[in-house]
Amino acid sequence: MADNARGATLLHDPRLNKGTAFPAEERQKLGLEGLLPPAVIPLELQVTRVHSEIDGLQDDLQKYLALSDLQARNERLFYAVLMSDPAKYIPLVYTPTVGEACQKFSGIFRATRGMYLPITARGRLQEILRNWPQSDVRFIVVTDGERILGLGDLGVDGMGIAIGKLALYTACAGVPPQYCLPVVLDVGTNNHALLEDPLYFGLRQERVRGEEYAAFVDEFVAVAQTLYPKTCIQWEDFANFNAVPILERYRDKICTYNDDIQGTAGIALAGVFAALRVTKQKLADQRFLFLGGGSAGSGIAELISQAMAMEGLSIDEARKRNALFDINGLIVSSRSDLTDFQKPFALDHAPVNTFVEAIKALKPTGIIGVSTVPKLFTRQVIEAMSALNERPIIFPYSNPTSRSECTAEEAYRWSDGRAIFASGSPFAPVEIMGRKFVPGQGNNIYIFPAMGMAVYATEATRVTEEMFIIAAKAVAEQVTEENLAAGLIYPPQSHILGASLHVAERVATYIYDKGLARAPRPGDVAALIRERAYRPAYEQE
Ligand code: NAD
Repeated sequence: MADNARGATLLHDPRLNKGTAFPAEERQKLGLEGLLPPAVIPLELQVTRVHSEIDGLQDDLQKYLALSDLQARNERLFYAVLMSDPAKYIPLVYTPTVGEACQKFSGIFRATRGMYLPITARGRLQEILRNWPQSDVRFIVVTDGERILGLGDLGVDGMGIAIGKLALYTACAGVPPQYCLPVVLDVGTNNHALLEDPLYFGLRQERVRGEEYAAFVDEFVAVAQTLYPKTCIQWEDFANFNAVPILERYRDKICTYNDDIQGTAGIALAGVFAALRVTKQKLADQRFLFLGGGSAGSGIAELISQAMAMEGLSIDEARKRNALFDINGLIVSSRSDLTDFQKPFALDHAPVNTFVEAIKALKPTGIIGVSTVPKLFTRQVIEAMSALNERPIIFPYSNPTSRSECTAEEAYRWSDGRAIFASGSPFAPVEIMGRKFVPGQGNNIYIFPAMGMAVYATEATRVTEEMFIIAAKAVAEQVTEENLAAGLIYPPQSHILGASLHVAERVATYIYDKGLARAPRPGDVAALIRERAYRPAYEQE
């Protein structure tokens, strides 16, 4: 980016361009006269204009495209629009719209963004990454495109996810966009429709696996560390069999995390902490039963266990309070089909084959659905939970809505309005027995942008599990009594920036306390976070 850019070059630099907001004196000074229509339109009015342009478009993909064109043209206006109404724009630049954008990526391709690193360039990644125009990168979101949302292997077309996610780091928590880098590691794709599509942009080969894949990821990490020593790498939408070992390999060596694994667990734990504000109980006294013992279930169970251990339980006692129930029944130690990540949760208990029987046997205070199978939280299940608990915690987290273990209405109706409910996908408010309930959505968006902001502002050396526990508590403490009374256990998305800055402050304080920061400790951590947060405004040139 040329800071002394003038004239047409300036108008084509999205970081410096103000479009019609350039005031008369700057137009004269910077050689812009005649290149813009004469009226000067201030930022607020530009935002209003974009709102009405977006509102006039027919479908969400068109809105996504209009917004990404704006991002390529005038970055400050783009973020001013997103931050003016996050609840409206987040679903347009990220899920669910970004899924369709990734599926149609090559057909709708416009201005390029981010770095594409093909495995055929092994040994040359440093040379290639040097082409990125910023020398100071603090945040990388990287994907290999193998498990994009629930859509599967999209190869390099997964770039849309890395771009959209980084836009949220900025819009929701103020991580400055100039320090952010979206990356795709192109190791091929096993999606044959893509391989046969003449417009597909990625390598035309099956995915590379095994040692060659690991060596490529190693080279990427080493090069990123060399070129950008203060960077944090966030792994995004890798297939589970790669995501888990990658996180294990680097988590204690560099500043890194996996939002699908850790952010997800963090947001579920935040829901639990908020629920405990309703029941006025301690975490260490809870017992959870998970329907589904896969990556989401075991990840959430592990973070809850660690948070229980912070309240004084031994980690083994804590894990026994987080029981898993999968397709073959309750996870008990006599079973021979358990994976390594399920074994720590195995109970010394007789086999139990139905979920209702497991509820009756274990008497959980909460059930968490991560099975991918809809409707498994039956009336019998909710009634069994309601017989055991005055305020049963019922979290059907499977996505999308069509796979939710139950609907909000079912949970409230079958529990006579006593359920403390949150789901993975959104449900509209429901009215039952003359009361209105507002169901919360366990969306990682309350966790990962704030984590990014804390890491950026403190120049953290590591991202630890405890940081997600701190973040979860900080999310939960922001739910108002009024929200809780209406059934809402997450802060409303309309207040996401304020909520994220609060979470970032709590996490940053923890980073300083634990000696994990490289930046000097300021007198006032909250003030540091506010100062460092990006604000979309036009400075005077
Ligand atoms: P996974 O495939 O790894 O695990 C699914 C688990 O469900 C397995 O243990 C399987 O045995 C079990 N299961 C399947 N059918 C069952 C049945 N009939 N009875 C009991 N158990 C059954 O999947 P995952 O990655 O763990 O994701 C699970 C779900 O969680 C997905 O729908 C995903 O969308 C959701 N999820 C939600 C969030 C969120 O809300 N923030 C985050 C991550 C994942």
